[in-house]
Amino acid sequence: MGALPGFLKRQQAGWQYMLLIVATTALLSSCAATGGGAGGLRTENVIILVIDGVRYSETWGAVPGVIPNMSQRLMPQGTFCNNFRNDGFTYTNSGHTAITTGISQPIDNYGTELPANPSFLQLWLKQTGKPATAAWIVSSKDKLDILGNTLHPDWQNQALPSLNCGVSGPGSGYRADSLTLIEVLKVLQTQQPNLMLINFMEPDGYAHAGNWEHYVRGISRSDRYAKQLWDFLQKDMHYRKKTTLLITTDHGRHLDTVDGGWVEHGDDCEGCRRISLLSLGPDFRKGGFVETKYTLVDISATVAPMLGIAFPQSEGAVMKELFTRKSLRRLPAGTVPIP
Ligand SMILES: [Zn+2]
Ligand SMILES: [Zn+2]
Repeated sequence: MGALPGFLKRQQAGWQYMLLIVATTALLSSCAATGGGAGGLRTENVIILVIDGVRYSETWGAVPGVIPNMSQRLMPQGTFCNNFRNDGFTYTNSGHTAITTGISQPIDNYGTELPANPSFLQLWLKQTGKPATAAWIVSSKDKLDILGNTLHPDWQNQALPSLNCGVSGPGSGYRADSLTLIEVLKVLQTQQPNLMLINFMEPDGYAHAGNWEHYVRGISRSDRYAKQLWDFLQKDMHYRKKTTLLITTDHGRHLDTVDGGWVEHGDDCEGCRRISLLSLGPDFRKGGFVETKYTLVDISATVAPMLGIAFPQSEGAVMKELFTRKSLRRLPAGTVPIP
């Protein structure tokens, strides 16, 4: 082949340059289209499951025990935090508020007081401009509808998530967890939200009633429901391979040596403080076991950068040991110290 005349060479180079731009743009936009999370993380959806008021000694401290699904089937697929704690106020509304707002605050436990600060769900809804149906709170306890709003003057009644709490909203009473699971699956299938916080109440409810057998049964049912939820997320075309599931509890229960024992909770005894976190999803390590101390407020600090939102109000820290090395590198700059 003879050499091309100069102007043709330039034209060829021009076309190659154009093709390069087109290809790069396509690549970038396909990343943007698939990467719901920041910087190319695989997570596009985050679901937080709170199993209310289970003590470490009846769950992760006695495996497989009554949690064979979580401890044998789910745990190898994710990373477990063995030193996870409620270091704030060890009752339902405060524990859940610490999860959603990233701030530990004392708050009325009967559902008459909204959190002082907005939740990461509100911030995410506002920053993405998504409709209310993209973020849900689905709870067995009706009083947890307070998680949907805040007293903060800049945020009250703004960018509110959808609610499905109790039998039929605040004041309607607690709903059986089996029915809450049905609602969860229904919402996931029909609304396909990106964010959801779930509360199962049976262990806590039956413990307060002094019914040990049903307290333990509540734990074992929650274990089964957690597996059913994870299986759904693995099979569903919309959620598979791009959904993070965090399974935790809001508080434990008194040690047997504390007055009231397993029936009650609410102080700073080790039984109330020691809880657990199992983290599953495409950006987390498989078979990981973390002994670093983390607390409830670290959940929002970890989830926010995964969703690409700034959440500086959170008192928590990013739980960096949860992530695969690749995903850790993809968290937004400044989120975690460079290793
Ligand atoms: Zn309770
Ligand atoms: Zn206690």
